[in-house]
Parts: sequence; C-alpha cells; structure tokens
Amino acid sequence: MPVDTPRLLINLDALAANYHTLKGVGMGVEVAPVVKADAYGLGAVKVSERLWEEGARTFYVARLSEGEVLREAMGARQADILVFDGAAPGSGPRLKAANLVPVLNSLEQIARWRAEADGPPLRAALHVDTGMNRLGLTMDEIAMLARRPAELAGLEVGWILSHLACADEPGNLMNAVQRQKFDDARFLFRQARASLANSAGVFISPTYAFDQIRPGISLYGGDPTGLHSARFETVATLEAPILQVRRVAPGETIGYGGDFKARRPMRVAIIGIGYADGVLRSASKGGRVWYADGPRPVLGQVSMDLTAVDITDVPETEDFGDMVEVFGPNLSLDAAAAGAGTSAYELLVRIGSRSERYWKRFS
Ligand SMILES: *Cc1c(COP(=O)(O)O)cnc(C)c1O
Repeated sequence: MPVDTPRLLINLDALAANYHTLKGVGMGVEVAPVVKADAYGLGAVKVSERLWEEGARTFYVARLSEGEVLREAMGARQADILVFDGAAPGSGPRLKAANLVPVLNSLEQIARWRAEADGPPLRAALHVDTGMNRLGLTMDEIAMLARRPAELAGLEVGWILSHLACADEPGNLMNAVQRQKFDDARFLFRQARASLANSAGVFISPTYAFDQIRPGISLYGGDPTGLHSARFETVATLEAPILQVRRVAPGETIGYGGDFKARRPMRVAIIGIGYADGVLRSASKGGRVWYADGPRPVLGQVSMDLTAVDITDVPETEDFGDMVEVFGPNLSLDAAAAGAGTSAYELLVRIGSRSERYWKRFS
C-alpha cells in the first residue's frame, strides 16, 4: 500500500456482522440496505455484493444514476433496486431499461410512471409523508388513491414507505404520531411491503419494523441513537501518514491564520490528510485523531492537504513513518464526528476520492 496518501479500510466482514445484528433487532424482518451516496462513501458495489451474499435482496439508492450503476454491477443477481428520487421528468425510459423501481413521491410522479406502462404492470413504491415534509404523497392523496384504484392502473404497488424525522430521539412524541399515520396508510395497501424505519427507527421499538427496515448508517458502523454503539462493528477506518514531525517553540503559531499559538515547547506531527480528503475544517477546534495509544488534538486550522496534531506527549522513540487513525476501532466514527461538530453520516460521505479505498474480507 502506498504510504503517502490517506487510506480508507473497509471491513466487509464487519459490514456483514452489522447486517445480521440488524436482522436480530428487527426480529427477522427484511433488512433492505440503503446504499445511496456510494454506500455512504464505502463503495456501493462492493457493499451491495457482500450484503447480497448475506441474504439482502432489496437495495435503496437516492439517484437514478446510482441505481443504474448498481444494476449493472449486480449482473445476473435479481435484486430489487429502489430509487428514492422516484420518477423525475425524462427518467422513465432509463428506470425501465435498468429495471429500477421508483419510489413515487407525488401524483405527478405517479402519472409520469403510469405513462411508461405499455405491457405488464410496472412495479412501483409509494412514499407517504407522515410528518417530515420532505418528499412524499400526503395522507389525503394516499387515501384518494386507495379509493380510486383506477388512478394507479398500469402499476403494481409493491412497497409503501415513509421516513421518520426524529428516530434518533426514541422519546420524541413525533415518532409515535408518524408511526400511527403510517399504520393507517399501509392498511390501505395491504398487498404492499411496508417500510418505515431507518437505522435508528428500528431501535425505538420492534413495532416500527413492519415488513422491512431500511438501514444505512448502522450497517456502516455508525451509532444510530447514542445508545447502541457497542452493537455495531467498525466497518470504516480512515488513516493518514505522518509526513513530518516538527518542534514548535513557545510563542510560535501553527498553520493558516496563526490560529494556534504554542504556550510550551511542543512536538507536532504534520499528517497527510486535509479537508480535500474528509477531515472537515470544522475539526480545527475540537478535532482529534488517534496515535500511539491515545487521542491527539488537532492544532490550528485544518488545511486542504495537511493537518497538524499535538504529539508532545508521545515518547520520542515512536516511528514517525506511522499512520494515524482519523477514525476507526480506537476513535469511533461518532466520536470523530462529534469532534468536527457534525454527524457520522457527513463524515463518511465527505471522505474524498483522493483517499485510497481498500476492501478486506476474511470470511
Ligand atoms: C438515507 C435514508 C435511509 C437510511 O437512513 P439511516 O439513518 O442511514 O439508517 C432510510 N430511508 C430513507 C428515505 C433515507 O433517505
């Protein structure tokens, strides 16, 4: 492996373990992985191939183009690939060509997808908005569609979905309100598979699991609620090399803007990773990396290619060609996200293309 670039190690066995953990938490209901945004930066194709081996048969992406890439990669594997964006103007022929199922979010999208039906019924998912006010049909529209099946002629509604706004706060009353509305909606489409919960949703209570759960972040090792971190194995480890170690005298400053001023003699490691690689600038205050058995604070501003960290307390005998862990088994994704004032989600998807990705599996 080259040692001059950051590298992202992706443990596919841990991914598989997390999939089976979710199977257990959802009491055995279908686990349909969400592999949008290149599986949160971990490689949608590699991730989907492994999860297929583990038994996953339904996959969610956000964009049509993500669905096309995944369909191509799945080859002969007859996966159901659903596209959250639904049927955007002009997307019909491409959705059909790649055998993708749009998650229909509006009456307009329903009309557009129906217009493509010229043979056997076209498969579709319906997304009902139960309170998030992002995408989805209203409760009134869902009720109307159930009353007037002709409005869905030409379509086979295989799935009904909704999405929780506050699932990461199990005590938030909005969850129960959304769950009740979803229960009402799916009752109108009993032949469809019902799916409400994301990673955090399934932890509120098993009654949120319905027929299928749609986890993303927990598969990839993120802690969905702050309560269950030990349940999920570390999938992603981001490492970067120490390029130089320097001594900084009291009164000297480090990095752009001279934001950090040393108050004592310091030893500083300059690591070869910056905001072009996924260490957010917001980690300039409060960020840490893991090195030589301990967390080491980020000093001064994170720059595009480089980040300075304090290794004053590390014995001088350490080998400075070493890699530093930005997050991974020692410094969790969630801890690193907190240090940058963001979420595990954003941290993963911001890992730049310059970081080399290595997928490993042992089983
Ligand atoms: C991204 C997404 C998910 C997955 O959410 P996680 O919190 O990562 O488990 C599920 N459903 C929808 C509609 C999404 O947009």
